[in-house]
Amino acid sequence: MDKYVSVAIDGPAGAGKSTIAKRVAAELGWLYVDTGAIYRTVGYHMSLMGIGPKDKDGIERCIDDVNIQIEYRDDGIQHMILNGQDVTDLIRTPEMSMMASGVSAQPCVRAYLLDMQRELARTHNVVMDGRDIGTVVLPDATVKVYLTASAEVRAERRWKELLAKGQDVKYEDVYIDVVKRDEQDMNRKIAPLKCADDAELLDCSYLTIDQVVAEMKAIIRKKVQP
Ligand code: C5P
Repeated sequence: MDKYVSVAIDGPAGAGKSTIAKRVAAELGWLYVDTGAIYRTVGYHMSLMGIGPKDKDGIERCIDDVNIQIEYRDDGIQHMILNGQDVTDLIRTPEMSMMASGVSAQPCVRAYLLDMQRELARTHNVVMDGRDIGTVVLPDATVKVYLTASAEVRAERRWKELLAKGQDVKYEDVYIDVVKRDEQDMNRKIAPLKCADDAELLDCSYLTIDQVVAEMKAIIRKKVQP
């Protein structure tokens, strides 16, 4: 039997994965790993270098210069440190969402980040969210959930989150980004977003956060006694 428990939560942009995963992890006392933040950090580095999301050669040339550290502090936030700089807030913009989605389709980026994600699961009980956690990163995860919601609901949630952070964005633009990102993430050749055969599908379009957390914990309890 594995020493550590891993909960893999995959799903499209804005489904609420990070909100739910963070709460479930805190309630169970496990580590929450937001893998999207790692791809965003790579995207941020490439944009600093003036490299576009589809510039395969440029990304391959620069990927080894990306030194990422993940720090967990008392504020409960997963801090992303890129070459010594805390970029936690800088990666949370619509531009960095699209940048992350672009660079994440490059095989060299996925290969570069795979070990980092697996190492965290090898050394901690984790609740890890992303797009390919149950299918590629942790195919033997103890629990797998595919969390989804309609594109309209997801765009509305993302839009409200961005407004709350003081970003001046239009709902229509956020909706277009969400649909475009789904398209890119689901149709890329490597590690596309899809529901693993052995994952539980959870549609949270009409559920409150508390209801989704309760559902998630019930799914976990079926496999593990925390
Ligand atoms: O989850 P988040 O929206 O922060 O992810 C940003 C982008 O990073 C996604 O649109 C996706 O393209 C990429 N990603 C990925 N694999 C993961 C997590 C995120 O390809 N495990």
